[in-house]
Amino acid sequence: GQEIKVLANIGSREDALLASDNGAEGVGLYRLEKLFLSKKSLPTTEELAQELEDTMTILEGMPVTIRLLDVGGDKVLPSIDSPTETNPALGRRGIRLLLSFEELLDTQLRVLLHLSQRYDIRVLAPMVTVAKDMALLRGFIEDTAKELGCPVPPLGAMIETPAAALCAKEISRYADFFSFGTNDLTQYTMAAGRENSYVANYFVENHPAVLRLMQLAIEGASDLPFEVCGELASSIESLPKLLERGIRQLSVAPLAVPIVKEGIRRLSLKQC
Ligand code: PEP
Ligand code: MG
Repeated sequence: GQEIKVLANIGSREDALLASDNGAEGVGLYRLEKLFLSKKSLPTTEELAQELEDTMTILEGMPVTIRLLDVGGDKVLPSIDSPTETNPALGRRGIRLLLSFEELLDTQLRVLLHLSQRYDIRVLAPMVTVAKDMALLRGFIEDTAKELGCPVPPLGAMIETPAAALCAKEISRYADFFSFGTNDLTQYTMAAGRENSYVANYFVENHPAVLRLMQLAIEGASDLPFEVCGELASSIESLPKLLERGIRQLSVAPLAVPIVKEGIRRLSLKQC
């Protein structure tokens, strides 16, 4: 009797087609990195709007969560002047970079606000650590919405750092929903790079340390919905652990959607 939604993670028009063909109930994470990193210069408002619109039409009215650009760290955007950092994973990444390059943020907000008037769109902030950054982002989106004369779409925060998990309550003052990015949450909790094969045995996505942090976040901000969009969402073995913590929305790679749905149907919530 409980509805559990399975959505898709996408990064392109092709992914959107796959998501739709595989029965996704929407998009829980639309990564913009591919779109930005494939260009030598920053896309204009018109270019970005056109590319996103092409994808939105494929998704035919389904809910779509678009994440603001998550670059910095190991993903360097050639079109912005940001010096190389010695420890990029702990550097100016995600929301930190967006708040430092206002034009980059402004273009995205304008396009998303325009689209949100015709499509079911939510906006998601990457790599949040402190509530202050979310407060600044909320201020930007509210100001831009006022200027454009449109409502503010739901704004969510990725929970993918231990600081964000432990301060979910403070962050919830500026957020409408949360999405666990378990790939980064695992890397930052276990102190093991997500692509470093030497420490792959420490990168354990369902480690009790990661699950306990998730639990603390959910308990800390119990009035907001929590979703999962990292790889852990498609781990059939870990499904009971997510559902028993109250997760009711998962977002997974398009091809994993039917497998995860099948995994959920085989479970009874009493077993979780
Ligand atoms: C994550 O960190 O779990 C996540 C979904 O974001 P990305 O993989 O794009 O860093
Ligand atoms: Mg991440």
